[in-house]
Amino acid sequence: SSSSGTPDLDASKLTIETTATPKPLLDPKELIFGRTFSDHMLSVEWTAQDGWLAPRITPYQNLSLDPSTCVLHYAFTCFEGMKAYKDADSRIRLFRPDRNMHRLNRSAARIALPTFSSDAFISLISRFVNLEQRFIPSQKGYSLYLRPTLIGTQKTLGVGPPGSALLFVIASPVGPYYPTGFKAVTLEATEHAVRAWPGGVGDRKLGANYAPCIVPQIDASRRGFQQNLWLFGEEGYVTEVGTMNMFVAWVNEDGVKELITAPLDGTILEGVTRESVLALARERLPAEGWKISERKYTIAEVKKAAEEGRLLEGFGTGTAAVVSPVKGITWRGQNIEVPLSPGKETGPLAQKFWDWMCEIQYGETKHDWSYVV
Ligand code: PMP
Repeated sequence: SSSSGTPDLDASKLTIETTATPKPLLDPKELIFGRTFSDHMLSVEWTAQDGWLAPRITPYQNLSLDPSTCVLHYAFTCFEGMKAYKDADSRIRLFRPDRNMHRLNRSAARIALPTFSSDAFISLISRFVNLEQRFIPSQKGYSLYLRPTLIGTQKTLGVGPPGSALLFVIASPVGPYYPTGFKAVTLEATEHAVRAWPGGVGDRKLGANYAPCIVPQIDASRRGFQQNLWLFGEEGYVTEVGTMNMFVAWVNEDGVKELITAPLDGTILEGVTRESVLALARERLPAEGWKISERKYTIAEVKKAAEEGRLLEGFGTGTAAVVSPVKGITWRGQNIEVPLSPGKETGPLAQKFWDWMCEIQYGETKHDWSYVV
C-alpha cells in the first residue's frame, strides 16, 4: 500500500494510447536478450503531494529527464526481472508475480522511493501484457521478459528523499537461454571484489548493485570463465554466482545427501527461482533421502567434498536461465571439478528443477504459482 497516506496506485484509472506504427516482429531465432522491445510501455508517476497518479499505457518512447534528475546522480533506481509465458492454449501466464512485487516494494523502501499496492500493479501489468501478446512467441522456451523499474525523478542535486518518482514497465521478447540444450559453465571464485556485505543492500534489487559487478565479471571472462562466484569473508562463504543464486548438492560430512544454498542473511538477493526451487525440493526430494538446507557453507567445504568424491552437483538459479549447471569452479588457481550426468551438460537435480519449473511456468501442470493474466 501507499507509503504516505496519499492515493495508492489505482488500476481503474488506466488510460491506453496505442501506437500508430506497430513494430515488425523479429524471427524468434534472431532475438537477443534485452535488445528489442514491444510497441508500448506502462508508466505511473508519483509525487509526494498527490501520491500515485493515473497509470498510462503509451507507445514505447524516450524519457525526458532534466540533467539534475536525482536518479542520474544518486542511483535512485530499483527494478525487477520477470517473464510472461504463452501456454499451449495461447493463454498468457506470469510466474509468481506477487513475489516480484513484494521484492520491488522492499527495494523501493530501502532507497526512499514510494511503495505501491502489489495487486494494483499486477493488474496493470496484466493489461499491458495482454496488449503486447503478439510479442510473446508461442514456442516453449520463449517468453516476454518484463522489466518493471522505479526511479526517483526529482530535479535536484540535493541528497534527500525524491519528491517525485516514475514507475514504468518495458517488455522484451526473449528466446530460450539454452537454445541447443544445457551448456554447463565454469566459474572463477572472486576474492578481490565483494558483491554484498552485512548491513549493505545486496538483498535488494537496486541498480546500484549491478554496475560494480561488471569489471570483476569481465576479469573472470578474460581468463576464460563464463561467470564469477561471489565469495564473502575470510571464511570464503559461497554467496551467489554472477546474477544468480547458487546451489550445491553433496553428500555431507554426516553421509547425508544435502542440497544447500546460502541463507537470506542480507547479502543474498531473494531470488524468486531460489525460493521456488527450495519449495519444490522440500516438497519432492525428502522422499529420495535429501536434506534441504539454507545455511552458510564455504568454498573450502566444496573443494573438500570434491576431493573426497562427495560433491554431486552445482547450479545457479534465476529468471533468465531457470537453472544454469556448473561444471567447474576455479579457486586460488585450483580447479574444483563439479560433476555432471555422464555425457550430459547438466546434473540430475538441475535437470529435475528445470523440468518442474518449466512445466509450471508454461501451465503444463496446474499450480498456484502460475498466474493467468
Ligand atoms: N541474484 C542476483 C544478484 C540477481 O540479480 C538475480 C536476478 N534477479 C538473482 C539472484 C535471481 O533472482 P530471480 O530468481 O528472482 O530471477
